[in-house]
Amino acid sequence: MRIGILGGTFDPIHNAHLFVGEDVGARMALDCVLVMPNGSPPHKKAYEVTAPEHRLRMVELAVAGSSLLAADDFEVRAPRPSYTVNTLREVRTRYPGAEIVFITGVDAVAEIGSWREPEEVVRLCRMVAVSRPGYAMSDLETAVPRHLLDRIEMLQTPEIAISSTEIRLRVARGLPIRYLTPDAVVAYIRENGLYRT
Ligand code: ATP
Ligand code: MG
Repeated sequence: MRIGILGGTFDPIHNAHLFVGEDVGARMALDCVLVMPNGSPPHKKAYEVTAPEHRLRMVELAVAGSSLLAADDFEVRAPRPSYTVNTLREVRTRYPGAEIVFITGVDAVAEIGSWREPEEVVRLCRMVAVSRPGYAMSDLETAVPRHLLDRIEMLQTPEIAISSTEIRLRVARGLPIRYLTPDAVVAYIRENGLYRT
């Protein structure tokens, strides 16, 4: 069995996240990709992160039609911000003997050196980094210590220039977000008045 984990803030989830999950899932023959929003993320302080319950609900709505992607509330339910190393231990306990594939964009994995127990992280999973517009795979050469870099598998994916930041800004400005994220997420954002300021 092979289980993928796609972690993130997902504030909100968007079509690039969903495509990355589907694409890596198919190409690496994963049985399931857990789409797991974090609780209160230790790495994001620049703006007020939306309540975990909203972010989780949007993930649930977004993956509702997928037979591969599944929303996972482990980090949202955790009493403290969960580090990736803890999440990997939890998922390994849940799926004994499974191979765990941790999926990140190249921007996110560039910071792996500052994660908790990074050597343990790359020991507990296969770390896969996918392309993202504006970030070159070669940037990792300078950003990531060699012993960690050697454990990261690079996977070229079609680059989709969508970010959650762009979606939040567009909502605040009254610009359309349809086709950047699933219709159910667009509706949820509107109904709950998210990102208006
Ligand atoms: P924000 O703008 O708030 O940082 P984001 O769009 O970067 O949002 P995150 O929740 O920060 O989304 O990212 C979750 C994971 O998805 C990270 O591993 C990130 O690298 C990856 N990711 C996000 N957007 C893309 C994209 N357009 N292409 C490839 N990977 C992406
Ligand atoms: Mg991000």
